[in-house]
Amino acid sequence: MHYKRPKADVVIVGLGWSGSTMAEELTRAGLNVVAIERGAWRETSTSFPTTRNPDELSGSIRKEILQAPVTETYTVRNKPGETALPLRKYHNLTLGNNVGGAGTHWAGASWRWQPFDHQPYTRIMERYGAKQLVDGLILQDWGVTYDDLEPFYDRFEKIAGTSGTAGVINGVKQPGGNPFEGSRTSPYPTPALERTRANILFAEATTRLGYTPFPVPSAMIGAPYTNALGINLAPCTYCGYCQLYGCGNWSKSSPNICILPVLMQRPNFTVVTESEVVRINTTPDKKTATSVTFVDSDGNIGEQPADIVIVATFTLDNTRLLLLSGIGTPYDAVSGEGVVGRAFTFQTLSWAFMFFENEYLNPFMNTGALATQIDDFNGDNFDHTGLGFIGGAGIQSLCNQGLPIGMSGLVPEGSPKWGKGWKQAFQKAYQNYAQIQGQGTSFAHREQFMDLDPTYKDKFGQPLLRITYDYNENDRRSGRFIRDKCAEIAKEMGAREVTGVSLADQPYSGYTPWDSSHVQGGVVMGENPKTSVQNRYQQNWDIPNLFVIGASSFPNNAGYNPTAAVGATTLWTAKAITDLYLKNPGPLVRL
Ligand SMILES: Cc1cc2nc3c(=O)[nH]c(=O)nc-3n(C[C@H](O)[C@H](O)[C@H](O)COP(=O)(O)OP(=O)(O)OC[C@H]3O[C@@H](n4cnc5c(N)ncnc54)[C@H](O)[C@@H]3O)c2cc1C
Ligand code: SF4
Repeated sequence: MHYKRPKADVVIVGLGWSGSTMAEELTRAGLNVVAIERGAWRETSTSFPTTRNPDELSGSIRKEILQAPVTETYTVRNKPGETALPLRKYHNLTLGNNVGGAGTHWAGASWRWQPFDHQPYTRIMERYGAKQLVDGLILQDWGVTYDDLEPFYDRFEKIAGTSGTAGVINGVKQPGGNPFEGSRTSPYPTPALERTRANILFAEATTRLGYTPFPVPSAMIGAPYTNALGINLAPCTYCGYCQLYGCGNWSKSSPNICILPVLMQRPNFTVVTESEVVRINTTPDKKTATSVTFVDSDGNIGEQPADIVIVATFTLDNTRLLLLSGIGTPYDAVSGEGVVGRAFTFQTLSWAFMFFENEYLNPFMNTGALATQIDDFNGDNFDHTGLGFIGGAGIQSLCNQGLPIGMSGLVPEGSPKWGKGWKQAFQKAYQNYAQIQGQGTSFAHREQFMDLDPTYKDKFGQPLLRITYDYNENDRRSGRFIRDKCAEIAKEMGAREVTGVSLADQPYSGYTPWDSSHVQGGVVMGENPKTSVQNRYQQNWDIPNLFVIGASSFPNNAGYNPTAAVGATTLWTAKAITDLYLKNPGPLVRL
């Protein structure tokens, strides 16, 4: 059956952080908004009740809270010319699903990106010139600066109740915070989390080495807090079942606890769940978006007309929906022409894995984002002259959630693999294992992109998204540099055994066991329609009533997690729609 729903002012596709943040702003401005979400409804009190024991097998191991690859996957290859194969199991690039998206089960590290991260081209050219760039690197500014976004970072933190210690307020450095952060207008809404023993050892060691440790800002609420929408949030209890789990304690900020209780009360908001959007429809001249087509849970085909179409389905599906809808020119890696799918980035990760002797690190007392970090080697915070790369990483002592099944493989090299010997090794290692992670920047390369797979199709017969990705030479050089820094700090911390790893030294594989959704690009914002799909307001250059929001807009990745930057750019775009577009519908940037 085909049916058409009544026309809305705005249709939003996807109801994660970006979709629900946008919906709250636009409904508050009086617009009639319909959100269409492929997953089911999720309610904190019933979906994640505190009375239910967390189950590590279904959470961390089977990852049942994520979009199952059997429902949707994508194909991956390392280089153009290779045949891409579909991923059958998610290890990294995991996708959210259901109302709340990945925001229900994220780890919660909640970063403002640095001024450099929003303007990498200008800053690199000013400091080093083009000679600093490895061959094929794509470097471009976003068209929106940190200063433009500061009020929106501020509001997102006040919606999320972010915990942390400010580093720079109104240009003045603050004790205990990150001295490299962009200047803020106010402190974090809630205080930083307590440090674990591993965090303390890291803070002491990095201070001795002359660096500046600070607590990682997090979505784990640091004290009782009433957020900007009037919703009460509770302090985190460090329960340890955080990333890949929902929080029934109202302590991990998510769309479900921070926004939806208010949004669902609004008569001008409707959410249609279990309905997957398969196409954005336009007028024949492709100058106006008219509606979206979706398939509901009964297999019926629905159409939602709207004056404004906002796509908020996360990086991979944002790109795929534009490609499936024939909107914009797909990127061609041979000619370098085209923009949709261009500038795809992941994250460059390095580690030092450590075993101590006779420590009590108590890894079970933890959260998803309980970490202490240094930014001395992040972004452009250090002189890269002669190093042969740009960027770096935030280096952090990261909790591992201390879950017993997940940690069971973490025994020193040479330990027995089973039986009494393994049990003894694990018993000792559990309290003595810790890691330092370098979460690195990533800059796009002309051979990293997304397009439609010519072979594999989804359940509706539509092509899967194909990812062509491998680490580039810039990633490999920066990854090794950061690995060595991690190892230096690990030794200073007094670890008995230290193993340094740079992931970029291996070819990229979707099966590498590291949970991350930190993929950016494909529908990037920018200053030039030849190198970006959308203008500085995340508004399509050719279709002014189409906005694609989320990390797909970012032409590069920072040495941070992306969600606070997603929140800030979403709020920035919402304000552009309510204050500029509604008064004068049409392009917000004219060339
Ligand atoms: C395990 C894990 C840990 C993470 N930890 C962190 C962290 O510590 N810090 C951080 O900053 N970020 C983290 N992230 C990333 C973070 O979760 C995302 O940046 C954030 O959730 C993105 O929000 P979004 O609204 O853009 O996308 P999503 O949360 O993915 O929401 C998109 C929504 O769109 C829906 N959708 C997709 N396609 C369609 C369609 N065709 N039709 C209808 N609906 C559709 C999806 O079901 C989903 O609900 C983590 C991610 C994962 C998976
Ligand atoms: S660690 Fe804190 S924020 Fe995370 S699930 Fe437990 S109580 Fe919630």
